[in-house]
Order: sequence, then structure tokens, then C-alpha cells
Amino acid sequence: MRAELIDGKAIAADVRADVAREVAALRARGVVPGLMVVLVGEDIASATYVGAKEKASREAGMTGGTIRLPADTTQAALLTLIEQLNGNPAVHGILVQMPLPTHIDPDTVIRHIRSDKDVDGFHPENVGKLLIGHTDGFVSCTPAGVIELLLRSGVDTRGAEVVVVGRSNIVGKPMAALLVQARAGGDATVTICHSRTKDLASHTRRADILIVAAGRAEMITGDMIKPGAVVIDVGMNSVPDATRANGSRLCGDVHFASAVEVASRITPVPGGVGPMTIAMLLRNTVRAAQRTVS
Ligand code: NDP
Repeated sequence: MRAELIDGKAIAADVRADVAREVAALRARGVVPGLMVVLVGEDIASATYVGAKEKASREAGMTGGTIRLPADTTQAALLTLIEQLNGNPAVHGILVQMPLPTHIDPDTVIRHIRSDKDVDGFHPENVGKLLIGHTDGFVSCTPAGVIELLLRSGVDTRGAEVVVVGRSNIVGKPMAALLVQARAGGDATVTICHSRTKDLASHTRRADILIVAAGRAEMITGDMIKPGAVVIDVGMNSVPDATRANGSRLCGDVHFASAVEVASRITPVPGGVGPMTIAMLLRNTVRAAQRTVS
């Protein structure tokens, strides 16, 4: 079997087109959705992500931008800025790019963002709403993007055996919480695996849908996958590659060459889950703006 690719780039473009239509409808009512991104320090990867978010929000017709603060910004100064953004009616979504410098506590920062502007979906109030199945909160963008990929690719999660590898607060846990909800994109039987899981392969081989977010380059090989399974690779790892001009290449947590021979459908890296994350951030922001008028 050679798996069919799930094209995250194309599906993300569809989501972004939907968002652009919703932005246009809001603009017609005099509301321009605004996303403000805060970047502390000069981490190169973070600066790249932030640039992409700013560009995508502009392309969707939103306003906003990026506030860049020096790495030695105090936690108090950052919290004061967040309070200003919380009170600014033109800002519907606030995103503080992680990771933060080590002298700033990320949990304190996340709790300071007004939950109805927390378009990253990290605030405890939004995490709680996700768990109890309330849909008026915000869901972390990457797991929300995975559900959207599955729905728009016609992959039925109902009754499916789904194994999630990884239990982080931004991917693994919200991923599992979405999959167990009693609604479309949910109704799955979910197993969460992590670094203490015994005999990982015995779990992954049971999965009708295998979702991997472990941050370990190519750790899931074809022999760990049930024939015909749908494989969603969240991982984004840079590994050395002497054949490339820049000396490295991007790969997922799944060993693509062996997995593609066993799975029925699979997301590539890049071009799978990655583009969905930004698309869902835009969708969360337009929802935040819609809630201010409805
Ligand atoms: P974290 O490092 O926060 O979490 C990784 C999880 O994987 C942990 O729960 C860890 O277990 C588990 N894990 C690590 N090694 C193993 C192993 N050998 N066997 C089983 N479980 C293991 O990572 P994130 O959740 O933030 O990200 C995961 C991956 O997804 C990364 O590659 C990241 O770059 C990528 N990512 C991609 C995004 C996108 O837009 N495409 C967005 C966000 C992340 P334990 O808890 O026990 O330590």
C-alpha cells in the first residue's frame, strides 16, 4: 500500500479563504478583527513564526501587528502591556509567542491574557471549556487544525481507535480532549502515550488513526503502524543533512519513507499540520471579533 497524502497546505488555504470571507462580513458591519502578537527576545525560530502569523492575518484582511520587546523585558512590563491590550477594543486576539526568556513565567503571562482574547487557547478557562465540551472558548490551534484536517479529508473519527503520542499542554492533551468529545471530529476511543509508556509500538500498532507529537525526529517507523491507518505527523524537527545547501532539513516525528508504505493516508512534513496551525489562529481571531458583535 502506498498512502495518499493529506494536503495540509490546500486544506489550510480553504480555511483561510473561509476566514477572509468572515472578515469581509465583519468589516461590512464596521468591525475589523485585530490580532496582536507579542514577541520577547530575538529567538530566530520564534521571529519566523511571528512574521508568518502577521503576514497571514494581513492577507485575511485583519489589522494588528507584532510588538517586539527586548529579551531583558521584565515580567511586570510584559504584564502591563497585556493589560493595555486586554483593554483595547481594536485588539480581539492576543498571542504571546512562546518560549519566553527564562526570567518570565509563561503560566503567569497566559493567565493574564483575557480569556476571550486568548486566541492561542492556552488560558485555563479555555482549556477547561474544551474539556467539558463547551464551544464558546478557544482551542489550541495545532490540535484544532488536526481535527479540521481529519474532518475536511473525510476521515471518520467516530468509534475509531486513536493513539496520540505526546501529552504536552499545547498539542497532546488538547488533542485527546477534542477526540473524546461527543460530536463530529470526536467520538473516538483515545489512548495517550508519552515517554513513560511501556512498549510504545504495541499501542501505535492498534491505532486506526495515529497522531504523533513527540518532538523526536522520525521515531515512528512503518513497522509501528497498523496497515491502512491514517497517520498525522505533528512533529517539526530540523535534522542535519549534508546534501542541503543550509546543512539541514525539516522532518516529522514519523519516518515518512517507511510509514507511507503501510498507512492509507498520511500528512507530509512540511505541508501537513504546520499550515493548519496558522489557519486556526486566524479562525480563532475572527471568532473573537464575531463574539464582540453578536
Ligand atoms: P513537547 O516536547 O512539549 O512534548 C513532547 C511529548 O512527547 C511529551 O509528552 C513527551 O513525553 C512525549 N515523548 C517524547 N519522547 C517520547 C518517546 N520516545 N516516546 C513517547 N513519547 C515521547 O512537544 P510539543 O507537544 O510542543 O511538540 C511536539 C512536536 O510537535 C514537536 O516536534 C514540535 O516542533 C511540533 N509542533 C508542531 C506544530 C505545528 O504547527 N506543526 C505546533 C506545535 C508543535 P513526556 O511528557 O513524558 O516528556
